[in-house]
Amino acid sequence: MIEIVRIPVLSDNYVWLVHEPDSAETMVVDPAVADPVLAEAERRGWSITQIWNTHWHPDHTGGNEAIKAATGCTITGPEAEQARIPTLDRTVKEGDTVKLGDVVAEVIDVPAHTAGHIAYHLPDEKAAFVGDTLFAMGCGRLFEGTAEQMYANMRKLEALPDETRVYCAHEYTEANGRYAVTAEPDNQALADRMADVVAMRERGEATVPTTIGLERATNPFMRARSAAELAERRAAKDAF
Ligand code: ZN
Ligand code: FE
Repeated sequence: MIEIVRIPVLSDNYVWLVHEPDSAETMVVDPAVADPVLAEAERRGWSITQIWNTHWHPDHTGGNEAIKAATGCTITGPEAEQARIPTLDRTVKEGDTVKLGDVVAEVIDVPAHTAGHIAYHLPDEKAAFVGDTLFAMGCGRLFEGTAEQMYANMRKLEALPDETRVYCAHEYTEANGRYAVTAEPDNQALADRMADVVAMRERGEATVPTTIGLERATNPFMRARSAAELAERRAAKDAF
């Protein structure tokens, strides 16, 4: 079993530090910054061997260079964004696999937030690293793509097993939920979840990871019945 550690950085980013004990490999998902990540690995006695990027935004790649300089790790990221992530050693796209020790991750193309955004699904670990595509009760903004693309992304992600833990890159849950309850006022599962989330945030707790099952029940973007409805909801949330 891999071990996954949440490292909160900047105002609301989560960097995920992932350790595979059999191989002693340690991987970082989307290091916004280097120092807190290197410190956490050091504290645990783990040597970072890989970085996996989901997209080019600086709050996901800003730590690449310094972590690579400190550890000699290899960096994997989206083929379609290689020009924007000059630190990449290996580029991948949908259908490719990446390994941490013997643990396999399948790459899924999820363009829309950025044009080449990818997600990593680890079926045997029931885990997915989704960057800024799927959030708890939310989805990424459509900076470089369309609602049609995001709608297709939601179909790919909701097809993963319900128990899949979803590791998002930001703590946006409470703000997402405040909009979500207005989009689906009759959704009792959503209202119940929002009450839980408010209480968790009052206690200073993180609300990520989420699960595919929970998002299927409460996420107004995954639940939008058409690309047009997703577009409407995305525009409403942007203005919320
Ligand atoms: Zn982003
Ligand atoms: Fe981000």
